[in-house]
Amino acid sequence: MKDETKVVHAGRHPEKFEGAVNPPVYHVSTVLSPSLADWEQKKKDYAAERPGMYYGRHGTPTLKALEEAIAEIEGGYRTMLFPSGLAACAGAILSYVKAGDHILISDSAYGPTRRLGLRFLARFGVETQFYDPLIGEGIEALLRPNTSVVVVEAPGSLTFEMQDIPAIAAAAHARAAVVVMDNTWATPLYFKPFEHGVDVSVQAATKYIVGHSDAMVGTVTVTKEAWPRLRETHVDLGQTAGPDDVYLAQRGLRTMATRLTQHGESGLALAEWIARQPEVERVLHPALPSDPGHAIWKRDFRGASGLFSVVLKPVRHEAYAALIDGLELYGIGASWGGYESLVMPFDPREVRSVTKWPYAGPSFRIHAGLEALDDLIADMDAGFRRLRAAL
Ligand SMILES: *Cc1c(COP(=O)(O)O)cnc(C)c1O
Repeated sequence: MKDETKVVHAGRHPEKFEGAVNPPVYHVSTVLSPSLADWEQKKKDYAAERPGMYYGRHGTPTLKALEEAIAEIEGGYRTMLFPSGLAACAGAILSYVKAGDHILISDSAYGPTRRLGLRFLARFGVETQFYDPLIGEGIEALLRPNTSVVVVEAPGSLTFEMQDIPAIAAAAHARAAVVVMDNTWATPLYFKPFEHGVDVSVQAATKYIVGHSDAMVGTVTVTKEAWPRLRETHVDLGQTAGPDDVYLAQRGLRTMATRLTQHGESGLALAEWIARQPEVERVLHPALPSDPGHAIWKRDFRGASGLFSVVLKPVRHEAYAALIDGLELYGIGASWGGYESLVMPFDPREVRSVTKWPYAGPSFRIHAGLEALDDLIADMDAGFRRLRAAL
């Protein structure tokens, strides 16, 4: 079955819900048992991971529907849900570390994931080392006997470096380290982590899976070998996700393949148009043939979503503000993956330790929404005209 078909059908069981196409939203904490025997059976079923509802936090048909769908589409053994993408990143890493361990995080990983290593994990005696995202098989030299986790993210947050995931995974596995990937940019459709050596894949479902900027959910999908520790940690940390947000995520999933096609096409066309503007230093988008990560992207990925960045040549701050402030279709804001276009100014120097950012001009990230491409280009064109007038 093709992915476009899977996103429509995976995890749906209308026969269980009187024919309802979508799973109902279960608002549950207590689940009542009619007898002692039933109570004891429920407890055993939960411990043995058999189907059934035991307590709200331990899973409901609403949550299980999304878990089942993501596991199937991403190609992993099983999935667990978290209340946000960051909670999923944290839960994934925490599942495979203990005091005295050393972990490696890509220098271009999502900023709050870096901070987890630097601040929270440091308190528990876990040492975090950042590495050059372009390191490839060279990661071998950084692996120590106590390295338990290697965190990868491709392309990198904000700066879109492509990583050679199979090479990094091969080196990590030779030393028995677990490879945790943040796969949010590609979604489960455009990169198949488990076919490339990843053990644990994280989605900020808040982004393309929800797709409408109105709910927060994270998912962690794992191989069979990685499953017991993930489940244990999820239970120990009392993790779950809100039923309404999970419902919105499974609803968003149904149209994700169709939406992504448009986000990807518009994003690439917009990137190409912006790259031609004389005030632009570089566009960071792995699907551009001129991008240094293009060969890896072509080899490993099945498509591109609608998120990329732009680096301007050094300009007066007023000129930069003139471009950003007058945009009508691109909201200024964090997050991405919704139906609407966004622009987010950033400075990568704030989230780098071992790689140097070579550009002096300002940078901003663009999320290409589902508006007509002509309108998105016209709005950006007006922005560049304002910039020129203010140079
Ligand atoms: C947004 C994002 C997250 C965090 O997701 P939230 O749901 O906002 O917590 C994690 N990783 C990446 C790459 C993201 O862009």
